[in-house]
Amino acid sequence: MTSYLFRNVSIWDGINDQEYPGEVVVENNRIKTVARGRNAIGGESAAVVIDGQGQFLMPGLVEGHCHLSFVGPARNQDLGEIPPEEHLLRTCRNATLILNHGFTSAYSAASAKLRIDVVVRQEIQDGYLAGPRYRAAGPEITTTGGLGDERKQHMHAESFGMIADGVDEIRRAVRLCCREGVDNVKFNISGDEFVSHARAEIVSLSEEELRVGVNTAHDWGKRVACHSRAAESVKRAVRAGVDCIYHCDFADEEALDMLEAVKDKVIIGPAFGLVHNCVFEGDVVGLTKDVVERMGMPRKLEFTIATYKEMRKRGMRVVVGGDYGFTVTPIGQNARDIGHFVKFFGYTPAEALKCATAVGGDLMGHKGELGVIKEGALADILLVDGNPLLDQSVLVGPGRFSMIMKDGKMHRDPRDRAMPERRKIAAE
Ligand SMILES: [Zn+2]
Repeated sequence: MTSYLFRNVSIWDGINDQEYPGEVVVENNRIKTVARGRNAIGGESAAVVIDGQGQFLMPGLVEGHCHLSFVGPARNQDLGEIPPEEHLLRTCRNATLILNHGFTSAYSAASAKLRIDVVVRQEIQDGYLAGPRYRAAGPEITTTGGLGDERKQHMHAESFGMIADGVDEIRRAVRLCCREGVDNVKFNISGDEFVSHARAEIVSLSEEELRVGVNTAHDWGKRVACHSRAAESVKRAVRAGVDCIYHCDFADEEALDMLEAVKDKVIIGPAFGLVHNCVFEGDVVGLTKDVVERMGMPRKLEFTIATYKEMRKRGMRVVVGGDYGFTVTPIGQNARDIGHFVKFFGYTPAEALKCATAVGGDLMGHKGELGVIKEGALADILLVDGNPLLDQSVLVGPGRFSMIMKDGKMHRDPRDRAMPERRKIAAE
């Protein structure tokens, strides 16, 4: 039996708004005890005692809109052109990378090829690959001409879409994903700004197709997520019973009311990082102001911001997750979205952190036992040199995590590392 006692730590539990000095005992893969104050728990209660030197102890981060197999494409069809062998290896590297950045869980919002997510999840679960808890998805189920269809009349192309038209093909596509072992199914109900054919405010999947798809996925016990930017695509998603609705940028009053009515069941995710980086940092990857303007990105940014200020007021459950994996959004920077929630959507730091921990734990299928520090919860724990309630940027980049524990196992062990320089000085 493995057990750890963490002493001299400042605990932020994913439930309360403030951190507090305390101690935590982990036994096997669960948190056994959480106590307030110092020296509340005897050293004999765990095999290993770790002095946190006053650092910040918090739940592992959850990426709520993850694409491990998006290996930096400039164009969507680039993902279709990578051979499966290279694609799999690069996805494995992303799995380890994101765990090194403090994300102990990730909910896939689509796999670029059907089996990549499934194989990577299995390799992680079996203990051969370092990576987060991972809910695998299939490709984005879409229609001819919808987001993810990069074909031309004269030329075949693949990207991240699985094209299906009509209820029979949709049902078959869902069953195919289920047969191959996905945990999540994803539908593209609207288009997007970065493709020319079905723009963000076009609704490309019919209500009939969506209902059949969602019901089939639910029959198989899968969670359903969708890409919905247009107001009507949000309404369609609510009516069809989708579990997780991404984007919702152009939600109108009626769509917001419908979302609010199902807020205990449905989880929302803005995937803001991609929009943010296109507008403010597009030039880094050659997206000039002109191109970004022509794509309608600044307008989308304004709508997204207004929508999520409203979502917050209405008490919607929103996950952090930013569509990282494109050239303009390199994987590893995912935690930037926590700061974006504060800066752009008006969340308090504690609210934004809950979106990246406790709400994400619910999306992962572990409501109340993942993304929280409490007795009985799964032991996904970070030790951070810095206070993210004061400055969310300390969670960006791997440098400030002196410990990353997933499922009670050390991925980064604080005993292997010298304590940060300034703490060493303070201790002397
Ligand atoms: Zn996405």
